[in-house]
Order: sequence, then C-alpha cells, then structure tokens
Amino acid sequence: MLKSIFTFQCPRCRKGNLFQEGNLLRPGSLFKMHSHCPHCQQSLEPEPGFYFGAMFVSYAINTALFIAAWVALTILYPDYTLSMLLGLLTAVVTLALPLTYRLSRSIWLAIFVRFDPQASQKKSSE
Ligand SMILES: [Zn+2]
Repeated sequence: MLKSIFTFQCPRCRKGNLFQEGNLLRPGSLFKMHSHCPHCQQSLEPEPGFYFGAMFVSYAINTALFIAAWVALTILYPDYTLSMLLGLLTAVVTLALPLTYRLSRSIWLAIFVRFDPQASQKKSSE
C-alpha cells in the first residue's frame, strides 16, 4: 500500500498511474491527473471537491518539510538569520510543490479507496 502511494498509483488496482506523465520543463504538466484510473477505471475524483481534504495532507507534509529544513539549517549553519531561514523555507516548499501536490492526493485517495485484487487482475491477462 505504501508503495502504491509513493509511486502515485491507483489504490484500487495498484497498477494504473494517477497522474499523466509529467515533464519538468513544463511545470503545468506535473499537476495533471487522470479522471479515471487507466487500468481499472476507478474514478479518481469520486465527487466534486473531493481533494479539498488533500489540502490538509499537503499542509502536514509542508509542516514536516519546514521542520526538516529548519533542523538541517540549524545543524549546517548555526549562525543563520531569520531572512535566511524564510528564504530556505520558501525555496524548499516551492521546489517540493509538485511532489507535495501528488503525494497529498495519492495519500488522500488511498484513505478512501480500498485495494481490490480483482480490479488488479482484470486487464493483466491481455
Ligand atoms: Zn486502478
């Protein structure tokens, strides 16, 4: 289950990808999601506003990132100034944004959609 979360795969069949192929040169593409799982047709947006809750997950991830960046700075450069800290936090959160976005949606979906071995098998014989 954790594997499907971190590889951004459908929690129902653990085969289909949640996201369309991203391209780092086109940052917008990193946020494009399939409306249905390409493998088992599981709806990836069961209801409008479904991913509102994913904001809380990304908030939690950002908090963890903040703490990690702050601890790293304290260890590596103990004489840091407040503006350095703020600059670092902004850079970390901005760079991690596509990852945070994907991870929070992947986690949120995995909370509501259960693994279904039959859905996983369906197409594998083809
Ligand atoms: Zn699926």
